[in-house]
Amino acid sequence: MAANYRYWCGECHYRTSWLTESQGADQQDRHYAERHPGIEPGGRVEVRRGSGGGLGCLALVGLLFLVLLLAATCQDSQSSGAPAPTATYRAL
Ligand SMILES: [Zn+2]
Repeated sequence: MAANYRYWCGECHYRTSWLTESQGADQQDRHYAERHPGIEPGGRVEVRRGSGGGLGCLALVGLLFLVLLLAATCQDSQSSGAPAPTATYRAL
């Protein structure tokens, strides 16, 4: 179950934490009963977007792979530059 709903009170600055739609509505109802008795529950509902965490994770792995590839390429060019001292040694 994705907890992507946050209910904001219309009477004060109260807001629920991220909950499922029914949990949030329950919690807001309870808040109104405690804090604003006799007032019809209002306010607004905030819906969290971009909850596709799988895609974000995939992008992160791709980025990590690119960094590793870059690091490997960098090391290759460094080691290919290394034979230079041996070349001068051989020349002596
Ligand atoms: Zn309130």
